Amino acid sequence: MSRPLDTDTVVVGLGAMGSQTLWRLAREGVDAIGVEQFSPGHDRGSSHGESRIIRTAYLEGAEYVPFVRAAWRAWDELQEAARARLVIRSGALMLGHPGSAAIAGSTLAAEKHGLAYEHLSASALAERHPRHLMRPDEVGVFEESAGVVLPEPAILAAVRLARQAGARVLAHRAVTRIEPDPDRPRVWVGDTEIRARRVVVTAGAWLTRLLPGLTDLGGGIRVERRVLGWFPITEPLPGTAAPEPVFARDEPDGTLWFGFPSMDDGRTLKIGIHAESETVRAAAGRRPGSQWGEPVDPEVGPRPPDEDDARRLGDLAAGLHGVGPLPEHMVSCMYTMTSDEHFLIGRRDELPGLVLAGGFSGHGFKFASAVGVALADLARTGHTDLPIGMFDPHRWDTDGRRPR
Ligand SMILES: Cc1cc2nc3c(=O)[nH]c(=O)nc-3n(C[C@H](O)[C@H](O)[C@H](O)COP(=O)(O)OP(=O)(O)OC[C@H]3O[C@@H](n4cnc5c(N)ncnc54)[C@H](O)[C@@H]3O)c2cc1C
Repeated sequence: MSRPLDTDTVVVGLGAMGSQTLWRLAREGVDAIGVEQFSPGHDRGSSHGESRIIRTAYLEGAEYVPFVRAAWRAWDELQEAARARLVIRSGALMLGHPGSAAIAGSTLAAEKHGLAYEHLSASALAERHPRHLMRPDEVGVFEESAGVVLPEPAILAAVRLARQAGARVLAHRAVTRIEPDPDRPRVWVGDTEIRARRVVVTAGAWLTRLLPGLTDLGGGIRVERRVLGWFPITEPLPGTAAPEPVFARDEPDGTLWFGFPSMDDGRTLKIGIHAESETVRAAAGRRPGSQWGEPVDPEVGPRPPDEDDARRLGDLAAGLHGVGPLPEHMVSCMYTMTSDEHFLIGRRDELPGLVLAGGFSGHGFKFASAVGVALADLARTGHTDLPIGMFDPHRWDTDGRRPR
């Protein structure tokens, strides 16, 4: 047994959310220890693959807009502190039928919050965004101020700044047990005990491994496999300012897929599938409208990409002008889904002394900067002014504690 460590706050997991939390705590002068089972910025969780979309006209719900605005401010603070460019304003293009979630949802959010956006007809799309081969009845919503966050550099920058501000980082060390307690929760890293005033758990896909009581929360937290593919650009678009906008495309069959401007000077374009078509869901034995992805045991990790993935992504790439049909490379990644696809941020009564964040359901990275502020606030003072009520982990309870 090694000697116990004492600290104010332990952050378990230094991925997207934990790295930002550790930095915010250290910046406020809080004595904090961050524990990460791999090396910060690794490619075995949910935060690798070069780029993540950030957009304010939020198709998943207009109620997210104030939190995205807070995230933009917090990303600016991180960029300034790190003296690094971590967000690229490429613009974002939502594409689909006028009634699709991508178009109707983003338009509603923009209108409700007075955001600047452009509605593009099929002919305007063909003229201004010829990369996208659209049907005549499809339209676009362009948000100029949206863009791309660079996930691995953002995590590394936050961990570096946290260290510089005095945080201790235990890398390549896995937390094996967490003991909730209202006054003195404890964390075990192998045979090392860490005693703290608060514990923040940001373990991503491993959240329910560490806190198994959360497994059935709201009907289940599910870890699913997703694949990203980088396709060669065979024809650069003349006259198009680089980088091309990020996009999300809502197909008539229910597929919602996305793409990114390349981070390699226009050589490739990265695409991935957020939600699959009803046909693919049915073939996977899932109800229409339900989550469809292949379940993953995070201890084993997601299955590596294969030919079926290449074919499926290649079918989607056929909807892009000047993009080759075969991916140059692919990676697998994990989504951690809640049943309503909204996040979990806050406390649970049966886990005293703990603050948790997880279940980011494939759309959490853009918020990581603000999640870090909110978790650091909750750990320090028990309260945050940031609008996180809709993410209350008690929202499914039947005891009347419903914040929404
Ligand atoms: C393919 C793909 C595309 C995506 N696209 C977007 C997008 O465009 N925009 C967007 O906003 N979001 C997107 N997301 C979602 C976003 O990336 C995730 O919501 C976010 O990365 C989740 O962050 P996290 O901190 O919860 O998890 P992670 O970043 O995975 O961090 C969890 C960390 O905890 C560590 N850990 C776990 N258990 C332990 C333990 N016992 N001891 C020590 N450490 C531990 C892990 O090693 C890991 O580093 C995408 C996700 C994927 C997979």
